[in-house]
Amino acid sequence: MGYEEFHRRSIEDPEGFWAEQAQAIHWHRPFDRVLEYADPPFRKWFVGGRTNLCFNAVDRHLDARGDQLALVAISTETGTTRELTYRQLHREVVDFAAVLVALGVGRGDRVVIYMPNMAEAVFAMLACARIGAVHSVVFGGFAAHNLALRIDDARPALLIAADAGSRGGKVIPYKPLVDAACAEAKVPPPKVLIVDRGLAPGWPRVDGRDVDYATLRAAHAGTDVPVEWLESNEPSYLLYTSGTTGRPKGVQRDVGGYAVAMALSMWAIYDVCPGQAMFSTSDVGWAVGHSYNVYGPLIAGATSILYEGLPTAPDAGIWWKICADYGVRTMFSSPTGIRVLKKQDPAFLRKYDLSALRYLFLAGEPLDEPTAQWIDAGLGKTVIDNYWQTETGWPVLTLMPGVEMKPVKFGSPGLPSPGYDLRVIDEATGEAAAPGRKGVLVIRPPLPPGCMTTVWNDDQRFLSSYFSHFDELLYSSLDWAIRDEDGYTFILGRTDDVINVAGHRLGTREIEESVSGHPAVAEAAVIGVADELKGQVPIVFATLKQAASDAERRHQTAGEMMRTVADQLGAVARPARVYLVDALPKTRSGKLLRRSLQALAEARDPGDLSTLDDPNALEEVRRVLARGADAG
Ligand code: ATP
Ligand code: MG
Repeated sequence: MGYEEFHRRSIEDPEGFWAEQAQAIHWHRPFDRVLEYADPPFRKWFVGGRTNLCFNAVDRHLDARGDQLALVAISTETGTTRELTYRQLHREVVDFAAVLVALGVGRGDRVVIYMPNMAEAVFAMLACARIGAVHSVVFGGFAAHNLALRIDDARPALLIAADAGSRGGKVIPYKPLVDAACAEAKVPPPKVLIVDRGLAPGWPRVDGRDVDYATLRAAHAGTDVPVEWLESNEPSYLLYTSGTTGRPKGVQRDVGGYAVAMALSMWAIYDVCPGQAMFSTSDVGWAVGHSYNVYGPLIAGATSILYEGLPTAPDAGIWWKICADYGVRTMFSSPTGIRVLKKQDPAFLRKYDLSALRYLFLAGEPLDEPTAQWIDAGLGKTVIDNYWQTETGWPVLTLMPGVEMKPVKFGSPGLPSPGYDLRVIDEATGEAAAPGRKGVLVIRPPLPPGCMTTVWNDDQRFLSSYFSHFDELLYSSLDWAIRDEDGYTFILGRTDDVINVAGHRLGTREIEESVSGHPAVAEAAVIGVADELKGQVPIVFATLKQAASDAERRHQTAGEMMRTVADQLGAVARPARVYLVDALPKTRSGKLLRRSLQALAEARDPGDLSTLDDPNALEEVRRVLARGADAG
C-alpha cells in the first residue's frame, strides 16, 4: 500500500484503520468500540479496552527479547554508560514501582518527576505507568518557579527528583530547587523521593518529607508489583507545553490511543523494527523524549538510546560516535542541535562508521533550508523534517519511509500523518486556502489516537485554546502554513509571529529563512518592531558561524543580509536593522523567544522569562541594542 492510500484509509475509515493498528499492542481486555465521539471535540479511542503502557513497553518483550538491549543511558557528564536488557529494565522498573507503592502512590495519583536524562528517569516513568499513577515530567533545566507552577497545577502525591543535573561539566544541584519550589507551591507534595547520584553530596533533608531512593529500594527490592490494567481513556501522563507563547498548558494523554499511535509511528514513520536502535537527543522532559526516548522505541521492542550531555563534548563527534557504537538506525534531533554542530568542524560528520544509520529526523522548530542542506550533504543520510506539538504527541506532518518514501522537499515537513485530517484555512474567511496561499494549519476533529485528550483539569481551556478560532469546530495548530500543489505543507511560523509592514503581513519565518541563506549566518531571529510610518518593520538578530570582532566586517555582512532579503522577498521585507549577536535568547527547549526579543527592541519589559535558557543571551541582546545596529 502506498502512502496516499494508507493515509486516505485512515481518514475515510478511521475505525477500520485504527482497529487494525490496535492489534500491534497487547490488550488485557479487548475494546468494545474503536471510537466514541458523542461530545465533540472530546473523543475516546478504544473504549472499554484495558491495557497498560509499562506492560507494552517492558513485560511483553521478556519472552522474545529479554536479553536484548532495551535502554542505553549514556552520560558524558558523569562519564557513565548503562546498558540494560529488557529483563534488567523490567527488574529496575518493578523495583521502582515497589518503592512507589510503599510510599502510598496508587492509580490516578500524580507524580512529578524532575530529573535529567538518566536511566532512573525512565524507570520512574515506567513504574508510574505500571501502577496507573499519572506522571508529569518537568524538564530538569527548569528553575524552581517553573517547577512550583507545575506542582500547583498537577497536585502530585509524590515528587521524584535527582540530587543534581550536570551541564557542560558543571553540576547543577536540584535539591535546593526542589526545596524552593516546595516552599513556593501552594500545595507542595507530601513526599519527595531523591535519586542520589552523589553529584551534590550533603543535601539537607526535610524530615518527614524527603526519602532516599537507594534506601527504600534496598527495603523493597524483589517485591512483585502487578500491572494495573487501565481503561484505554484513563490518563497516562501530563506534560506541560514549552510555554513559548504564554502560560504552559497541562497536556493530558490517554493510555490505549497513545500506545497504538506509538506502535504505528515506530514502523511507519521512523522505520524502526524490533531489535533495531533509535537515538533521540531530546530530553525526557519534552514530548519527543516521552514518545521517542521512552514509550515509542520500547513499545516497538527496539533499543532506545538516552544521552545526557552536550552535543559538543568531549567533541562534536559524540552523537555520531554513539550512532556507530550502537548501530543506530534512526536518529532524532532538533534543528537547534544541528545548528550547534554547524559551528563545528564538519569532519566530525564523517569520522565514524555510520553504515547502520538510515535517517535523521528533526523536529521542534522550523528547519531552514540551508541547515537541512548542510546536514544532508555532510552526513549523506536521509534527513526528514517532521512537525508536531506537545499536544499531538507524535508527528502531524512527516514523510513515512516505513510506508513509502516520498521525495524530500527541503523547507517542508512533508505530508499528513495517518489519522490527521489537515486543512490550511484562510484566517479571515475560514475557507480552505488555495494551494500556495497562506493560512492557519488546522486538524479536523476527532483528533487521532495519541493526541491530547484535554488540558488537565481544564476542559474549558482545551476548548478555548484550540477549538474556538473558527465557526467550524476545528483544532487550530496556531501555526501558519502553505500547502503546495503536491500536498506538501510548509510551516511559516506561529500565528502570533506576524509582522505587519505598511499593511503587508509577513511571516517571521520567511525572512529568517532568507537571512539564513547568507553563507556567514549560523542562526537568525526576526521580529517586528513598532514604526511610526509603517506600523511595524522587521529587524534581525543573527549569530555568525565565525564571530566577527571587526566592526567594518560586521557592517558589511549585515548589509549583505539586508540586500539578500530585499532581493528574495521584496523591498517591504527588507530588515530595517540588523544586529549581530553571540547568542539568541531561547527557551529551555531550544525555541527562539521572539516575544522577549521584541519587547527588548521596543524598550519594554521582556515579560515572563521563566523558560529562558541562558540569561546571558538576553543581557547580550540588551548590550547590542544599546551599542546600535550593525547595519540599518
Ligand atoms: P507553547 O504552546 O506553550 O507556546 P510551544 O508551542 O513552543 O509552547 P511545543 O509543543 O514544544 O511548545 O512546540 C510545538 C511548536 O513548535 C509547533 O506548534 C511549531 O510552532 C513548532 N514546530 C515543531 N516542529 C516544527 C517543524 N518541524 N517545523 C516548524 N515548526 C515546528
Ligand atoms: Mg504550542
